[in-house]
Amino acid sequence: MAKRLPRCTVLLTFDYDAESREALVASQRPVKLSKGQFGPRVGVSRILGLLDRHGIKSTFFVPGWTAEKYPESVKEIVRRGHEVAAHGYMHENLSELKSPEEEIEIFRKSVEILERVVGRRPVGYRAPHWEFTPRTITNLVRFGFRYDSSLMNDEKPYLIVDEGKSTGILELPVEWFLDDWPIFEIERRPPSEVFNIWIQEFEAIYAEKVPYFLLTMHPQCIGRASRSKMLETLIRTIRKKRGVVFSRCVDLTDRFEKQ
Ligand SMILES: [Zn+2]
Repeated sequence: MAKRLPRCTVLLTFDYDAESREALVASQRPVKLSKGQFGPRVGVSRILGLLDRHGIKSTFFVPGWTAEKYPESVKEIVRRGHEVAAHGYMHENLSELKSPEEEIEIFRKSVEILERVVGRRPVGYRAPHWEFTPRTITNLVRFGFRYDSSLMNDEKPYLIVDEGKSTGILELPVEWFLDDWPIFEIERRPPSEVFNIWIQEFEAIYAEKVPYFLLTMHPQCIGRASRSKMLETLIRTIRKKRGVVFSRCVDLTDRFEKQ
């Protein structure tokens, strides 16, 4: 008998940028660098503790630079059962690169470093800044990725079609208002408001039987005490619904490929 599919798969995803972007564009500005360092110093362990308490396995998108600078922290993420996926080398905005070769080199370097630190080749990718070039999908195929999580044209997973042909790559769509960064770090909203925005979206998609809910978060942002507490309340509230499963991106991809 076929196993019943969950009514809704919830993906709590974390972009472990640390200060990779600042090291690229603001390396002479220690305070800017320090903001990103909150992730490895405080945020990651707080998030790992929270996920452990709720028995949730998640996906962390990690720039190669972060894995090189904080290998123990990235290994700890893997030891706790989470997935590590690719997220550029120094959080490059692909749309700002000077040549197609530069993009390929960033893919090559970031995959090679993650494979070395984690002991396994990453199967998932999320574009830093959620920016692609017209060549990015070709590069995802070239580097053997099985899923991407950067596009905004749907609210549930689908296979990416490129130039009329299926790539076999699963897209796990994202949205800016389901990302902690703009809502906390730009709009400066308090946790109670963010809770309301996120739970309203979850309840609406659950009511409509959309089988997918993905949040994008950053340890340096959601890892602040009051925000993590809000995330814990959100997890408890979501868990009360029937047929909800928390999952890593790779597990959802496996399930999708089997269907
Ligand atoms: Zn990022």
